[in-house]
Amino acid sequence: MAFIQIDKDICTGCQECSGVCPVYAIEGNPHEAQTIVTERCVMCGQCVQKCKSYISLLDHGLEEYTKKRQERGLPDTVTEPLFAAYNVSHLNAVIAALQDPKKFTMVQAAPAVRVGIAEDFGLPLGTLAAGKLAAALRRLGFDQVYDTNFAADLTIMEEGTELVKRVTEKGVLPMFTSCCPGWVRYMEHQYPELTKHLSSCKSPQQMAGAVFKTYGAKLNGFDPASLFTVSVMPCTCKAFESDREEMRDSGYKDVDAVITTRELAYLIKRAGIDFTALPEESFDQPLGDYTGAGTIFGVTGGVMEAAIRTAYTLITGKELSDKEVDILPVRGTEGFRTADIPLGDLTLKVGVLTNLKHIDPVIEQLRRGTLHLHFVEVMTCPEGCVSGGGQPKLLLDADRPAAYENRRKATFDHDKALPLRKSHTNPAITQLYQDFLEKPNGKLSHKLLHTKYKRG
Ligand code: SF4
Ligand code: SF4
Repeated sequence: MAFIQIDKDICTGCQECSGVCPVYAIEGNPHEAQTIVTERCVMCGQCVQKCKSYISLLDHGLEEYTKKRQERGLPDTVTEPLFAAYNVSHLNAVIAALQDPKKFTMVQAAPAVRVGIAEDFGLPLGTLAAGKLAAALRRLGFDQVYDTNFAADLTIMEEGTELVKRVTEKGVLPMFTSCCPGWVRYMEHQYPELTKHLSSCKSPQQMAGAVFKTYGAKLNGFDPASLFTVSVMPCTCKAFESDREEMRDSGYKDVDAVITTRELAYLIKRAGIDFTALPEESFDQPLGDYTGAGTIFGVTGGVMEAAIRTAYTLITGKELSDKEVDILPVRGTEGFRTADIPLGDLTLKVGVLTNLKHIDPVIEQLRRGTLHLHFVEVMTCPEGCVSGGGQPKLLLDADRPAAYENRRKATFDHDKALPLRKSHTNPAITQLYQDFLEKPNGKLSHKLLHTKYKRG
């Protein structure tokens, strides 16, 4: 399903969206309505972020506004301007599940949501609001308030183990990260012969969904058929990912509905919750426990840094000290960077890329053999998920650099402030392997947490 659309009645043909589309999927003449080439679109929602043409309740009247609101799958409490470029929403399905007494609801929120959501309630750009986010989700009535950050730690256990195996046993290299569904879709469409280079790991969102409907169902004493799992994501592409046929390894649809950070703000406002006055609360145990490594998934280079923190231990048998745990060479902003990371006797050659606009020359160099890397992190959006298409809309372009910088800084501050900063030290992860999965890359992990990506 094409989750991203441009409404021809509203589009003025300003072409600002085509300027930000990382895969050049928007076509049209100036001053005429633009169209999205669906096969090329990776559903990142950068056009949705950028679009400035809108209709409002005041200017266009209730009838027209209501029709447009319904086409987008938005509830009737939404009264904000509706922009020409939009994503189709799962919000009504979430509201129905929350009202259904027969459903047991579990929610997860991605790392970047906690540094974005407060902006929709007037707090400064990049305010860290992890505690208020947990409190808001609880007030909305979710039965278990779990966290994608927990699953980010789980992803590192699986992906770090896979990487070490590929490096030490001469497997397919370089290995590319697979947690960004926009990038996975691009790889499947543009370079289908290279999909064996993608890590077989599912994204944290999908690992969480599969764990919720198996281990989580057992923990809570519920039949998985009565569970309704919801993700809150900074990303418009995650709804597409959750609908992929591969994402049903629990025996059910692993993630039932995905809403964006912006849509969560609609839900909180609809419920009359005063977000700014909420107390700081924790996510529910054990599937809401996370380390600093889990939270830095929200920024470019974060997956790489988290993987290195664990790969170091897997390879050397030692722990990085508190002084060594910040892997500064992989941090940065838009573009492509490489680094050589010493892991005992091994030098891990890594690359980090954010904004898919930069990917084709890198693939070309890898193909020609002029670039040699073990591991490459790729994110579709300009600065990783903190700049995702589902984050609070930045109406002024002038705010964009500060928003990205502040969200990134808040993410690293959160990492620094957490008592544990390496995924393999998360006690809830250890427990999950002891009680259920047995070992990273084991049989059950492979069934639930890994997949084979193919031509999309
Ligand atoms: S969703 Fe992303 S890839 Fe698709 S048209 Fe919009 S900017 Fe381009
Ligand atoms: S970078 Fe993050 S927000 Fe952007 S498409 Fe990828 S996963 Fe979604």
